[in-house]
Formats: sequence, structure tokens, C-alpha cells
Amino acid sequence: MTGPPDDPDVWDLVVVGAGPAGATAALAALRARPGLRVLLLDREDFPRDKSCGDGIAPHVLEVLQGLGAGDVLDGWTPLHRLELSRGERRVEGRMARPVWVVPRKVLDARLVDHAVAAGATLRRHRVRVLRRAGASYEIDGGVRARVVVGADGAHSAVRAAIGAGRVGRRALAIRGYAPTPEGRHARQVIRYGERRQPSYAWSFDRGDGWSNVGYGELVTGGGDAPTRGLLLDQLEALLPGSVPGGTEWRGHHLPLSGWRWGREQPDGPVLLVGDAAGLVNPMTGEGIYYAVATGRLAGEAAAAALAEGVPAGAGARHRRATRRLLDGHLHHTWLAARLSRYPAVVGAGIGAAGRDQRVFDTLVELGLGDGRITPRLAAGLATGLARK
Ligand SMILES: Cc1cc2nc3c(=O)[nH]c(=O)nc-3n(C[C@H](O)[C@H](O)[C@H](O)COP(=O)(O)OP(=O)(O)OC[C@H]3O[C@@H](n4cnc5c(N)ncnc54)[C@H](O)[C@@H]3O)c2cc1C
Repeated sequence: MTGPPDDPDVWDLVVVGAGPAGATAALAALRARPGLRVLLLDREDFPRDKSCGDGIAPHVLEVLQGLGAGDVLDGWTPLHRLELSRGERRVEGRMARPVWVVPRKVLDARLVDHAVAAGATLRRHRVRVLRRAGASYEIDGGVRARVVVGADGAHSAVRAAIGAGRVGRRALAIRGYAPTPEGRHARQVIRYGERRQPSYAWSFDRGDGWSNVGYGELVTGGGDAPTRGLLLDQLEALLPGSVPGGTEWRGHHLPLSGWRWGREQPDGPVLLVGDAAGLVNPMTGEGIYYAVATGRLAGEAAAAALAEGVPAGAGARHRRATRRLLDGHLHHTWLAARLSRYPAVVGAGIGAAGRDQRVFDTLVELGLGDGRITPRLAAGLATGLARK
């Protein structure tokens, strides 16, 4: 199905937001049905920066390889080592699969290029109003769409327009770039803090002499959100030397996932993905994998619903597919995030990971995108707590 030639502003699919979730949704829809008319809107021109730790899980690469976009990481160095610590407790080990640290200015622009090469039209536009207009949706009184994907991030206008409500739990984090000091080369370093748990500082080596450094913590919603100064002080206290040489500081909210996903996704032709869908790992703040995974599912759901001539069926299709992929994992990350509010549990987890490589691997997998709390991890935690 394509828009009538005399009405160029009726699109099969309009994707609002061209971050990883939106660009992947556009790309996936066009790979499923190359003839679709897909419009990708973003309030900014690309390349653009985005506040992020830039940590790219191997799961992200898998999704993008499946869409012919695995080259977005080309030229960046894979990292194999991870160091976790809290106070005196520390573990350092080799991850089962590498991760990458790629500035979002690079990653997002490359993904957008893939979407455009597949046939999407990219337009700079800040979406403010989305409303139903007969069988389609109208955006800011102009563009019309049979299906809309809301990929517009943590403060999503699309999510607000369909009344999906705000994401309950949030974190706030700041990141900058600093020269990689001796001792933090070729690794991801995470140091847990003392404030609202889970809180931690990170230093992720990009492999080009610079590291992405930052600090984030839970926001309670009681009007006492941490200031920029406090976030930077925490970073400097946990990873000394990061702040003085740092540059390009940028903070942002992280909408954390809950026990399950789906209540926010109504039936109908408007689909939510990535941060707009409230999908950020509540243990680690990782969200790029969920963004590309749900972007892909939404693009495919939109293409299938349009092929059937029932665009309004896309929402239920997307909800089912996303639940199938993520629900089990979300239960486990929800529980793990609750447990890691207790410093003793974090310490026990670090201790258990130091004694047992399989526990280390399980913690990495839980934090990145597809893990579960295994009986072995539970036993390791119990042993650690009993010893304490
Ligand atoms: C400090 C920090 C560190 C993080 N570290 C990591 C990490 O190391 N690894 C990881 O996996 N995740 C990390 N995350 C989370 C990750 O950044 C997000 O989960 C990810 O960016 C979500 O992608 P997205 O495409 O859903 O949204 P975004 O990347 O936020 O993209 C949304 C896009 O929508 C556009 N937009 C917004 N509003 C509108 C509008 N009204 N109209 C048009 N366009 C609009 C924006 O310009 C933007 O391009 C971190 C987050 C923060 C804040």
C-alpha cells in the first residue's frame, strides 16, 4: 500500500525520532516491504550527539546484522574486559562476548544512513501534536500516517499524545569524554556508589585514547532530583581524575523498565519503542539493545499490518511480539534491580562473580539485555550473604 500520488503527505509509516529505535524501525519496515512510503522525523539534524555511555552490547550487533546494518560498529575496537567494584570488593573478568563503545554521534548517524539507503525519507521536524484523522493519524496538522511509531525518547510526545502515561521509575545520569588514564585501558569499569541504589560511575574506553565517563542514580520523584554538580561530584569521588579532563558533559533521564511491558501499548496504529516505551534496564541503564530490538519488531509489525490492509492491527501485533521477546527477561531485571538496592547484595554479587566465571557471565547478560537470575547466581548470592 502506498500513499496516493496526488497527496504526498499521506505516508504508510511515520517514525517520530531517528535514534536507534526509530532508525531501526524504519529500516526493518522497509526490509520487510521495500515499497512502503516511510517518513523519519527528528527534531535534530544528523549527526547529532545524545547523552549516553555509548556501550553497545553484542545483542545490538546481532539485531542490526539481521537487518544488514552490522557495519555500524566498523572501525571501533571491541572490548573484552569488565571491572565491577563497590568499596573494597572488586571483580575483573573477561566477558563471554565483546562489547563496543561507539559515540552516539557516529552510531546514530550510521543507522539513519541505513534507513535512508533502504528508502526512508528523513525530515527535520519537532513533533508536537498527534491526533486521529479518520483512519489515519495527523501530525502537527500536516503530515498524515497510516501507522505511527513513537521513537522519540525519554520525554516522548507520541507517548503523551496516546495517553500512555509517564514511565514510573526513572534515573538521571550525566556523561562526558575524558582521556583514558593508565589502568582503565581496554575495559569497561563500573564502580557502585553509596547514594540511591542502583547508582554507579562508569568509565568505558573507546579505544581511541578517550573514554566515555559518567555517573547516574535513581530519581525518587520527590522533587529532590540530583543536580549536575552533585552528579559530577559523585563521578569524581568514585573515579578520580574523570572530571577535570572531561568535556562535552550532557545529562538525560532514563525511563526504567518494570516487571512487564505492554500496558502502555494500546491496540491501534501507534506503536511505542525504545525509551518512549519505557525500556531501559533498571540495573544498568542500558537501553540501546531494547531500542533496536523493539524498533525491529515495530517495523515488522507495521509492515505486516499494512500488508493485510489493517493498519490498526499493528499495535496488538507489536505488543505480542515484544512481550514474547522481553517479558521473561524483564521479570528478572526488575527483581535484580530491587535486590541491588541493598549494598550487601551488590557486594555478594561481586564476590560470587569473582569466585565463579559462570556467575560473572550471568550478571553481564542480565545487565546487557537477555539474562535471567539463574539458580547458580542465586546460590552465589546466598553464600556471599551468609559469609557476611
Ligand atoms: C547518561 C546515559 C548513559 C547511558 N548509557 C548507555 C549505555 O552505555 N548503553 C546503552 O545501551 N544505553 C545507555 N543509555 C540509554 C540509551 O541512551 C537509550 O536507551 C537509547 O538512546 C534509547 O534509544 P531511542 O532511540 O529509544 O531514544 P533516543 O536515543 O533518545 O532517540 C530519540 C530521538 O527522538 C528525537 N526526538 C525527541 N523528541 C522529538 C519530537 N518531539 N519530534 C521529533 N523528534 C524527537 C531526538 O532528537 C532523538 O534523536 C544511557 C542513557 C543515558 C542518559
